[in-house]
Amino acid sequence: MLALNSLEFKEHYTDLSLPPRLVILIASTKRSVAMPPYAFFKSKLIPLSEAKVGIMTHALHYGTACFEGIRGNWNKNEKQLYIFRCPEHYERLLNNCKLLKINIPYSVDKLCRLTVELVRKSGFKEDVYIRPLAYKSSEAFGVRLHGLEDDICIIVTTFGAYLDDKNGIKCCVSSWIRPDDNMIPPRGKITGIYVNNAFAKTEAIENGFQEGIMLTSDGYVSEGSGENIFLVMNSKLVTPATYDRILIGITRDTVIQLARNELGLETEERHIDRSELYLAEECFLTGTAAHVTPVVEIDHRKIGDGKIGKITKQLQKLYLDVEFGRNKKYLKLCTPVYTSRARATKAKPR
Ligand code: PMP
Repeated sequence: MLALNSLEFKEHYTDLSLPPRLVILIASTKRSVAMPPYAFFKSKLIPLSEAKVGIMTHALHYGTACFEGIRGNWNKNEKQLYIFRCPEHYERLLNNCKLLKINIPYSVDKLCRLTVELVRKSGFKEDVYIRPLAYKSSEAFGVRLHGLEDDICIIVTTFGAYLDDKNGIKCCVSSWIRPDDNMIPPRGKITGIYVNNAFAKTEAIENGFQEGIMLTSDGYVSEGSGENIFLVMNSKLVTPATYDRILIGITRDTVIQLARNELGLETEERHIDRSELYLAEECFLTGTAAHVTPVVEIDHRKIGDGKIGKITKQLQKLYLDVEFGRNKKYLKLCTPVYTSRARATKAKPR
């Protein structure tokens, strides 16, 4: 089970396959064109440019894959790249593989090790985004989940801001509805369902907004195309509950815990009406790519006074400090890349 809603972590593993000498050498080498990024592909670390799939690959035709997005955050002062909540992402991925009947022969622990090795080998000294993709790899036609081969690849690339988290963004309520669990489960992070997200995102952008907020088929607020949503109402945090067709975000979980532990603020998880969006005192989106992104306007209505809210600002700062390994209290959520002793962390089940 994906262990969410807990920030009590224990050390998960402490050693790595690379010898310390090699680690030091790589850590002191600035990434350059001479050091191309690598990918984990067909059980090997190979240059990204060589990692190719055939055009008949099942997942390409039918969306039969699930994926993760994990951030590696470059801490300038420490000259360290911290991968945020790596085990939790792989736990979610392996759970979602069950939905799609994808068998991956690796444990969470092994996937974390592979990821650290991949990022280190690619030599990045800046913020990165790690994309594991578990997919139906058979080169075969036919709509199904059974009787097909599976594989996993992991890609790492540089990645800056995804949304304007400095100034806040303008959102619209999307005309695209989040699918019900018995259509395609939104909690599954299944590639095929992201066509729904892409419709919402492009509609929002083409209409002059930065993000679209999707509703459920019963008209409750669900989530953005790549983010969970929070409101501040009567100085309390409110977010759609897991039954409102959301991806159960790891950032969402972190923010709920930081709000409770550091600000003494509980989060109410419940149905949210569309009109509550317009009446909220503050609103923000959370996601691995989006961090904590303030929302200052929805459907041409200012949220609060149209400026970034006080609680949003506090949570944004707290979250960034934790994510970049600057808040030592939460360092166990971060896996350092450039060290001979890499640490992965695992949340205790609820
Ligand atoms: N909802 C959707 C649809 C997403 O794609 C994402 C990004 N993974 C999120 C929410 C946020 O999830 P997380 O905080 O785990 O990145």
